[in-house]
Amino acid sequence: MKAYQTGLCINGGFRQGAAGRKIEQTDPSTEEVFAEVECAQVQDAVDAIEGAAVAFEGGWRDLAPGKRAEVLFQIARLIRDNLSLLAETECRNIGKPIGDARDEVLLGARVFEYYAGGIGRFFGQTIPVSRGGFDFTWHQPMGVVAAIVPWNFPFPIACWKAAPALAAGNTVVLKPASQSTLTALLLGKLALEAGLPPGVLQVLPGAGRDIGEVLVTHPLVRKISFTGSTEVGVRIMGLASRGLKRLSLELGGKSPNIVFADGDVDKAAAGSPMSVFANTGQDCCARSRIFVQRPVFDRFVSGFVSATQAVVVGDPREEKTQVGPLVSAGQRKISEEFLEESVRVGRKMICGGDRPFSKGYYLRPAVLLEVEPEDRVWREEVFGPVVCIRPFDDEAAMLREVNASPYGLSGSIWTRDLDRALRVSRLVESGVLSVNSHSSVHVEAPFGGFKMSGIGRDLGMSAMEGYTELKNVYIAQG
Ligand code: NAD
Repeated sequence: MKAYQTGLCINGGFRQGAAGRKIEQTDPSTEEVFAEVECAQVQDAVDAIEGAAVAFEGGWRDLAPGKRAEVLFQIARLIRDNLSLLAETECRNIGKPIGDARDEVLLGARVFEYYAGGIGRFFGQTIPVSRGGFDFTWHQPMGVVAAIVPWNFPFPIACWKAAPALAAGNTVVLKPASQSTLTALLLGKLALEAGLPPGVLQVLPGAGRDIGEVLVTHPLVRKISFTGSTEVGVRIMGLASRGLKRLSLELGGKSPNIVFADGDVDKAAAGSPMSVFANTGQDCCARSRIFVQRPVFDRFVSGFVSATQAVVVGDPREEKTQVGPLVSAGQRKISEEFLEESVRVGRKMICGGDRPFSKGYYLRPAVLLEVEPEDRVWREEVFGPVVCIRPFDDEAAMLREVNASPYGLSGSIWTRDLDRALRVSRLVESGVLSVNSHSSVHVEAPFGGFKMSGIGRDLGMSAMEGYTELKNVYIAQG
């Protein structure tokens, strides 16, 4: 309990919330409340935003780029130094398997290093305008950025919003999801220890409906960077439009995994379970709709089911665990309802779907066959350990079905035919695709969705650009 930071991180210190309310943090593997953090109220959010605006104008904006880079490199170093604390905290807070938690903390450190290094390589242009003189562009910071993040990848997503925004010279108010506040607060603490000036990164646990909406609508907030559900993203876009605020939205997904008969079917079958069941399926990139070309359907299903049954479900603290509990009873109930409904209408659940332990929000990974395109489980994001596998005959018809989804975040294609890989990659309406792999996230490459999966991109240098306004300056000559 001692190691956790539980106050609101505002203006360089940790303090109580205005109303003295608390948010309980539950360990999903034991169902026990193990910590309480302060719950920000409207006045706290206003204080945080105003403090961030003062910190922006009072120095961070104008700090020499090399100095900004030094602080961000130092944050990365402290994240690495505190790897165990951060990973164990995340593991307990949301039931993330400890190995995955460690990888995600290291991803957070790499993100800070990448943007610290990017500061000196973030160029404008000189433009040979026709009237002569000198014309150049400037990427200028916007001011206060609100970063609103979900509970499924709390630490890396907080880093991949805060780091590019800070690198570009903005100040940030970070709002973690109520289920997963602890590593965000630790990030605030480490940033202060690293020498980030007070007010430059504020961390504010609180209810989305009140605090989140203050962040979205406050006139001093210039950009909202949100990751979460499509439903909330749509609401935020509506609210933000009143102030014409800059927005990036990373939302839900229902990603395809397309297996052609000419691909390495055995490798695809062995590797695909963790492309949907990792993080207990609570992954916006989860490849939860699998399309398999008919001649290899049975072979794929058999390999996929064997690999699924070999997945280690268990205590997230144990090194061998691959799949831990879901984040909450409510989140597990959603998956169970999808499964009950599917079985009720005659779909075939060929493995999983049961609760393996009496304590903890566990659910064994479930595989559904004979699902129809109009089924809810085929169309909607489950956000739990549930996958559907369907055969296909015709590439064009399969692509129509892939693109019939309102989402377009991620996906995989398994084929050894380069022409096909390029053709299908071009035609799938998705922001992120991988061929013969399930890797979606690269620090250096843009990440984000088409259609209802979002607007704007995280990661890569395009994210840093997204935290700036582009200014053009013309200087007359002679
Ligand atoms: P959520 O939308 O319920 O909450 C996300 C964040 O928004 C939380 O911090 C929450 O407190 C806040 N919030 C809630 N209502 C708000 C409001 N009215 N105004 C402002 N803020 C508000 O999502 P979740 O349940 O935390 O996360 C799961 C969802 O996130 C899934 O749909 C998943 O696909 C999506 N997700 C997307 C990505 C991506 O990069 N595309 C990554 C991770 C998760």
